[in-house]
Amino acid sequence: MKQKKAYKYRFYPNDEQKQMLARTFGCCRYVYNWALRDRTDAYYKRGERLSYEDTAQRLVLLKKQEETSWLDEVSSVPLQQALRNLDRAFRNFFEGRAHYPTFKKKRHQQSATYASNALNWDGKSLTLAKMDEPLAIVWHRPLPDGCKPSSVTLTKDEAERYFVSIVVEEDIKALEVTPKMVGLDLGLKSMVIESSGQTHGNPKFFAKDEKKLAKAQRRLAKKKKGSKNRAKARLKVARLHKKIADRRRDYQHKLSTKIIRENQVVCIESLQVKNMVKNHSLAKAISDVGWSEFVRQLEYKAEWYGRTLVKIDKWYPSSKRCFDCGHILDSLTLDVRAWTCPECGVHHDRDINAAKNILAVGLTVAACGEAVRPGAVKTKPGKPPRSRNASQ
Ligand SMILES: [Zn+2]
Repeated sequence: MKQKKAYKYRFYPNDEQKQMLARTFGCCRYVYNWALRDRTDAYYKRGERLSYEDTAQRLVLLKKQEETSWLDEVSSVPLQQALRNLDRAFRNFFEGRAHYPTFKKKRHQQSATYASNALNWDGKSLTLAKMDEPLAIVWHRPLPDGCKPSSVTLTKDEAERYFVSIVVEEDIKALEVTPKMVGLDLGLKSMVIESSGQTHGNPKFFAKDEKKLAKAQRRLAKKKKGSKNRAKARLKVARLHKKIADRRRDYQHKLSTKIIRENQVVCIESLQVKNMVKNHSLAKAISDVGWSEFVRQLEYKAEWYGRTLVKIDKWYPSSKRCFDCGHILDSLTLDVRAWTCPECGVHHDRDINAAKNILAVGLTVAACGEAVRPGAVKTKPGKPPRSRNASQ
């Protein structure tokens, strides 16, 4: 099966490329912000919803105007791509997945995407439209043989590092089928708890970096506004932020690949982290472990490798239910790490018990092919109604 896969590398632009990139990033940002305002105004003033095609046509007119003719100095492809990105941001908003799009800021991460018609790949080096020389990329791992980049995104992050993300279509072979299955629970002391009892990742992993970050942030706060020292201190904070984010993502990737490789069926809870983050004492720990990013990785890796990922609705009482006898506690606050079932007397580690329940209910869902939602379990005529807990 052909799958899209992105490969990210660091690169070091020469002075000329730096200038061209700065201009391109600036134009992309300008076009994105202009179109965001345009689409918002169109809605408020005329009740119109502009589409991607509408904004693309208006961009052509914008470039013809004298005061914005400098937009022609950069490749037109990344500018159209900026409109596509905005369109996606709007779609995410309309479908309830994201907040209303906001303006891009100069100080944040900059990016520009080149489609295949604006890049040249000769099998060894990558050259972009309006640039003479190929990018000096650090190939820490090779692109798969014979692949052709379908798009390329360049970014410059707040720590002033340049990255190129190359999207290729790749033939990914499904892994050999294994009988192993696992339920995963999000923990606080450990990032992930398997139903087998195995735990992964301690949020304290990042504690040292965070101390450093807090120190750098305090230093930054003391610097005079607009001074050179302030700019330097800000860069240092940005670098530390990025370092922490990189380590976290790296860890998540290793773990999600391992779990997908080892198991045929992976059951997880689609936790509403937002609700949990309201509790401030837990907020840091939860955002640290980045559950939703981890779930996203499991999702696409399962698809790549022919595994099944079962997501269970939050309503299911995985923590409060005794795995051994099915008794459900009235309440179980987040600080209780272990409990004894009043019904059968089995002593439970909170997280392992939850992971076991998640696996059990996940397998039921996978077998029935139904969403686990109250009232959503269908029964065939002539058969007695199937209880949701029947097979556990
Ligand atoms: Zn029990």
